[in-house]
Amino acid sequence: MTEILQNLAGRPVIVGSGLAGLIAALTLSPEPCVLVTRARLGAESSSVWAQGGIAACIGADDSADLHLADTLVAGDGLCDAAAAAEIIAEAPSVIAALHRLGVSFDRDGNGSLALGLEAAHSRRRIVHAGGDGSGAAIITALTKAVLTDPAITVIEGVEARRILTTNGVVSGLLCAGSRGGMVLPSSRVLLATGGIGGLYEATTNPAGNFGRGIALAARAGAVLADMEFVQFHPTALDGNQRPLALISEAVRGEGAELINERGERFMRHVSGAELAPRDVVARAISAEIARGGRVFLDARRAIGASFASRFPTIHSACRSVGIDPAEQLIPVRPAAHYHMGGVVTDRDGRSTLPGLWVAGEAASTGLHGANRLASNSLLEAAVMGMRAADDLKSKPMAVPLGTIPPMPSEPDTTAVRPTVSRQLGALRSAAGIQQSIEALLPMAEGNDVGADPAIVALMIAVSASLRTESRGAHARTDYPLKQPAAQRSRITLGQALEIARAASSLNLARSA
Ligand SMILES: Cc1cc2nc3c(=O)[nH]c(=O)nc-3n(C[C@H](O)[C@H](O)[C@H](O)COP(=O)(O)OP(=O)(O)OC[C@H]3O[C@@H](n4cnc5c(N)ncnc54)[C@H](O)[C@@H]3O)c2cc1C
Repeated sequence: MTEILQNLAGRPVIVGSGLAGLIAALTLSPEPCVLVTRARLGAESSSVWAQGGIAACIGADDSADLHLADTLVAGDGLCDAAAAAEIIAEAPSVIAALHRLGVSFDRDGNGSLALGLEAAHSRRRIVHAGGDGSGAAIITALTKAVLTDPAITVIEGVEARRILTTNGVVSGLLCAGSRGGMVLPSSRVLLATGGIGGLYEATTNPAGNFGRGIALAARAGAVLADMEFVQFHPTALDGNQRPLALISEAVRGEGAELINERGERFMRHVSGAELAPRDVVARAISAEIARGGRVFLDARRAIGASFASRFPTIHSACRSVGIDPAEQLIPVRPAAHYHMGGVVTDRDGRSTLPGLWVAGEAASTGLHGANRLASNSLLEAAVMGMRAADDLKSKPMAVPLGTIPPMPSEPDTTAVRPTVSRQLGALRSAAGIQQSIEALLPMAEGNDVGADPAIVALMIAVSASLRTESRGAHARTDYPLKQPAAQRSRITLGQALEIARAASSLNLARSA
């Protein structure tokens, strides 16, 4: 039976307890709000696994302009420069806010914030905590703050399954928990549901994060952007464990080198070498693996005995599979890591659907363009979580609940993952994308457990088919060059289904 939680009616509802969700709830306080999250507070989030830290232009040799310039280069012509400039300018104040909320960032011998270097950053600007345990340090502090804040009602172990709308405006959220279904009547819903890595076999994301929020927003009619841009992290720890442990860019930032099984440093002649943009490094590693080779990170000379203290999380991940990175090579491979696309939002986190705000990785603000600059995502999650909360604070509306649909089953990615992994990976082609559209369309149109993951994957596939160029993280073997006048892509679920149906029937007619 589905219970309507009238006692919480009208309160803003935040979905997800990664950085974006937690900071939004704390920013809303003292206005009472509800925080709904699938697992325990802060668990099953990419945020808690973040290693490198948060990009913030606070070094004496740094500026917001330099940080913006690096971001625009990584974004490969598709960033929204104005949105990026605004988010980047707020980095120093976000670090200060997190510090006030109890995050203890690492400091150097003089007591100043210690700044790490990551790929494609022209300055040392990665603020970190607990060595490579930045995400855990941030989430631990924010979780503590949320749990002690009486204004925030936390509902754990509950999954949002549908956004309810009445006459095109958000009127509530249909959720499922172990004790049955529930409806939270609210005209203010903030999705902070994270990324899409769970659509792929090889990912660094929590397996459950397949873009649930994107599916909810798409079903409710919101516009999505940049769906084709999926960033593959070049250096996940290669092995049988899932999700794959990440070997942060910061390890390469400290001088570790990429070598193949022949001992060749194959990135030596590429501009930026090991610290070239992620897509460049990921494709170079993919090419080594595609020719039957293997790739390793060699941290022995550059980091050596200090590996365990500088990178404790990575050190223990390596040790758990019997590798001592101070003395041995670390086997690595690319894995789906970050989604630049998502629900289109404005600079206050507002989606195109009245009553729906989106923040963090589930959103597409235009900061990242075609490729994310390392460590800009925690920054975006924090800035946009706070901005969205500030915006929805003053906007209560009385929207009556309409008809409540039956509770959909718990989504499952099993049927979708093989297609997505094979056809929508780091290197794409028209034939592969077409095959993925044909495989995904019937699932996306159905009501099975694969429908929501298939909807997200189909929108990636259709957007990939429409982008007939290679740019940023989107690489096509049949269109290796950039088009001169590229723009960000925008699509609704209705449009994606229409294009997919046309593409499928055209192919059927051709093969008849
Ligand atoms: C291993 C790893 C390392 C990274 N390192 C860095 C780094 O150093 N610096 C950086 O800037 N970025 C890093 N990133 C990326 C960054 O961590 C993420 O982009 C960011 O944390 C996303 O935050 P978020 O709040 O949007 O989502 P998440 O932190 O992923 O949180 C999503 C939340 O939503 C919940 N949820 C999802 N769907 C539902 C639903 N339907 N109902 C209820 N709850 C739901 C989840 O359970 C979770 O609580 C890393 C990512 C990974 C995977």
